[in-house]
Amino acid sequence: MSTRDPNAVSSREAESDRTVLWAPWRMQYIDGEKTPGCIFCVSPESTIVRERLILHVTPYSRVMLNKYPYNNGHLMIAPHRHTADLVELPEVEFSDLMRTLRQTVALLQQAMHPHGMNVGLNLGTSAGAGIADHLHWHVVPRWAGDTNFMPVVGAVHVMPQHLLDNYDLLLPYFTALSSTPTDIHNQK
Ligand SMILES: [Zn+2]
Repeated sequence: MSTRDPNAVSSREAESDRTVLWAPWRMQYIDGEKTPGCIFCVSPESTIVRERLILHVTPYSRVMLNKYPYNNGHLMIAPHRHTADLVELPEVEFSDLMRTLRQTVALLQQAMHPHGMNVGLNLGTSAGAGIADHLHWHVVPRWAGDTNFMPVVGAVHVMPQHLLDNYDLLLPYFTALSSTPTDIHNQK
């Protein structure tokens, strides 16, 4: 007779219970050379740059596509400030980030019609943050069956085009967000 706790779940069982997206192009990121410097800090904070997948900037935050996405439309929202400290983030910056996060969710709903989304923040390397030194929220659109669908369409060599397709799809939605006439979206 087994003495195993009926409530205990082995790590293998736990793994199989989760709907883990299989994103093979992420191996390029995991195995590849890391670019020195912080990806959230390499571009001037007030420019929309297609090549860097930056879709939107606000006074305190920016929205960019994840270059190594878990799914189509995987976006990241980060403060301009290079910090890992959520608790010490000034209120005005936190509010700006949360507003931008909410707008991003709304825009993804309009633009890509996902069935659901994963929205989250990994604080620290131990929590899974790939870039632990600079706060960033992930927004990952999800579709029913995408765990089966993505391996079929996903391949390292086609992903860059998918990224720019995603970028071009989403940019008009973010452009419409900006209300100031001296719009930074006109810069390239
Ligand atoms: Zn940074």
